[in-house]
Amino acid sequence: MNLNLTEIDPSGIGPELALKILQLPDDQVAAIFPYTTALRERYFGNKVKLCSIVNAKSGACPEVCGFCPQSSDFKGAESPVYPLMSPEQIASVAQDSENNGSREFSIVTSGRGMTRERELQMVEEALHEIGETTKVEKCASLGLVSKETLQRLKGAGLTNYHHNLETARSHFPSIVKTHSYDEEVAAVKAAKEVGLRVCSGGIFGMGETIEQRVEFIFEVKELGVDNFPINFLNPRPGTPLEDVHDLSPYDCLRIIAAARLAMPAQNIFVLGGREVNLKAMQSSIFLAGANGTMVGNYLTTLGTAPNDTVQMIEAMGLEIDRSGVH
Ligand code: SF4
Repeated sequence: MNLNLTEIDPSGIGPELALKILQLPDDQVAAIFPYTTALRERYFGNKVKLCSIVNAKSGACPEVCGFCPQSSDFKGAESPVYPLMSPEQIASVAQDSENNGSREFSIVTSGRGMTRERELQMVEEALHEIGETTKVEKCASLGLVSKETLQRLKGAGLTNYHHNLETARSHFPSIVKTHSYDEEVAAVKAAKEVGLRVCSGGIFGMGETIEQRVEFIFEVKELGVDNFPINFLNPRPGTPLEDVHDLSPYDCLRIIAAARLAMPAQNIFVLGGREVNLKAMQSSIFLAGANGTMVGNYLTTLGTAPNDTVQMIEAMGLEIDRSGVH
């Protein structure tokens, strides 16, 4: 593919070219790495950002999202079930994450959205405690919450809000049955409006078409989010998507590359499903344009040992970014 980097202005490529990138044959994928790497280096140098999460409240979720074993609708799916962890427990995980190189730490809870006053107070306390004991950026992923709640959390030190759109608008109804795409978009907009940095992406490999992958990337681009987290489906037994294995390692690299070329200056994180989908090609995510990944465990599945992730990054000649706000 003949791409002239000088033609990729900061607003990135459009959907037509993104589709062509997603259709590249496997043996031509490496040919776009000079472009995706140059863009990553232009905006982020040789630095890679690490983030971590804590599954602070797990399972027993009344929502129905086809990929998620935490939905109580999926009787055969296994997921830990426990109430909200104490602020001290959450802060202790944040401290461990910082020691493992994370610069951003997210408090993640199951459920449609956090509405119980006591739980909100506990998250506020956790944010204060994390602020006093670490230098990590404080992120939360608490579902569909109101602007007022986001404002309160910001007052307690929250800097980032994570809320995934999950997939393309046209594919969403076959994946999520209990809330709408517009509600997801409204949550992202609310977080932006209160002045939080926003991390919003989703999961690829859930039966969507290549055209829907393009649609999804450009939905996110349109919202102007700060971070685009890319997950690749790791099908969980007992969920409706348990037998969906749609992605090859090259598919994953094509998706990352299309996202980088479409959103040159945004942080692109590769999160869940990295190990099982990319296998031996995991380190190529940085050649394809990713500038961040997760260290430690995912929400409902285990990740690579933190040291292995750090070693993989250093073996690519890249450095862990330990600076402040990104
Ligand atoms: S993704 Fe979130 S809202 Fe959907 S079932 Fe899982 S925990 Fe519930």
